[in-house]
Amino acid sequence: MNKKAVSFFETVQTNFDKAAALTEWPKGLIAQIKACNSVYQMRFPVKIGDSYEVIEAYRVQHSQHRQPTKGGIRYSNMVDQEEVMALASLMTFKCAIVDVPFGGAKGGIKIDPNKYSVDELQRITRRYTVELIKKGFIGPSVDVPAPDYGTGSREMAWILDTYQTFSKGEIDAVGCVTGKPVNQNGIRGRTEATGRGVYYGIREALSYEDDLISLGLSPGIEGKRIVVQGFGNVGSFSAQISRNEGNAKIVGVAEYDGTLYNPDGIDIDALIEFKKENKSIKGFKGAKLLENKHDWIGIDCDILIPAALENQIHADNVHQIKAKIIAEAANGPITAEAEQILNDKGIMILPDMYLNAGGVTVSYFEWLKNLSHMRFGRMEKRFNQNTYSSIINAVERLTDKSINASEKKLITRGADEIDLVRSGLEETMVTAYANIRDVLINRHKVKDLRSAAFINSIDKVANDYISMGVFP
Ligand code: GLU
Repeated sequence: MNKKAVSFFETVQTNFDKAAALTEWPKGLIAQIKACNSVYQMRFPVKIGDSYEVIEAYRVQHSQHRQPTKGGIRYSNMVDQEEVMALASLMTFKCAIVDVPFGGAKGGIKIDPNKYSVDELQRITRRYTVELIKKGFIGPSVDVPAPDYGTGSREMAWILDTYQTFSKGEIDAVGCVTGKPVNQNGIRGRTEATGRGVYYGIREALSYEDDLISLGLSPGIEGKRIVVQGFGNVGSFSAQISRNEGNAKIVGVAEYDGTLYNPDGIDIDALIEFKKENKSIKGFKGAKLLENKHDWIGIDCDILIPAALENQIHADNVHQIKAKIIAEAANGPITAEAEQILNDKGIMILPDMYLNAGGVTVSYFEWLKNLSHMRFGRMEKRFNQNTYSSIINAVERLTDKSINASEKKLITRGADEIDLVRSGLEETMVTAYANIRDVLINRHKVKDLRSAAFINSIDKVANDYISMGVFP
């Protein structure tokens, strides 16, 4: 069994136990909340080239205290049962923190997607979906997958098409998966959602002046030096939005094949374009390529955003960190051992289950859109626009002054789907941070944001079980 994945699962369990010990819930209830309820391990043959390959895959539903269960599907060589169990557990707590009414789940296929053609990936994805259908592990009211590491809207479209083939007449079938392309019943703003949520989360953490004194940081994200490890979907949007909307300075970007550094800040829009064309960040002119690609860990910065895979910050490299805040855009990037060291040093950790919850939050909006069979904003956009125009006209009439045309256009604009998605996501991230911070400040013995986040979600899940009458 993969050693790294075992320790990731253990890390999640250790973090859970540490937080659960600070609550008053009965032992049995805590044990139920911790357990992974349903684990489906599968093997299926797929024709690759001239021969058949037996594919190893999983779907884990950690908790059905709310349904459907929800969570992404990852394609990676590191996938094994324990990794998927760890990720499914995190999904339960993630959904609870941001008040998304789902249980947690996760799927994984043990493949390196770069080694397969698009055709082969399609065959693997469709066959995996059929396996899920056969065992009742997918459906808009049962379990709803989404993208994760190594997958994107293309894979979700294949899943949707396969599901629909087998669900004739099911009116809500398109809600069986989220993260779909916009023209395939997806929602605007889903692709950027996790990265945008990371930005809102960091911005919130930096808005509480008192919390920053011990870190020696001034309030506000503007001008903060950020290093991003991992420049895939989550890393690139986190960096781009932090820079373009928050005026942060991205001084380092690390990928599996190299690390870029520029103390004056990297032009992220240009780097995204460069990576699109070259499939790598190496060779980008706007920054220096470090000799050792692992040196991202020690770059002098204020905020380090690990946005790749789990276990990237461990006992052997944790001492090199100069950042004052670690913002976990990835799931489980810090091992339990490293976490202890970081906590002792007083470094602030913004925990994954809060910080990267933007993805599932917008997935929730997509699912709601699918069930309502209507784009957000369709009913009220014109009505609002007309109301705002009437107000402006009345103000102009009463004051005998006129507002210039471009200002008028801005004020009278009705919200489109993307505006509503972004505002819903921002509201979600702001409120959730305030709730977690409240636990940290007001609950006796809680010393770090991860435990506070766990406690916040354990309380919500526990209350659900109690109101179901499962634990009277
Ligand atoms: N895979 C993402 C996560 O880990 C998104 C899950 C979803 O949208 O259901 O949060």
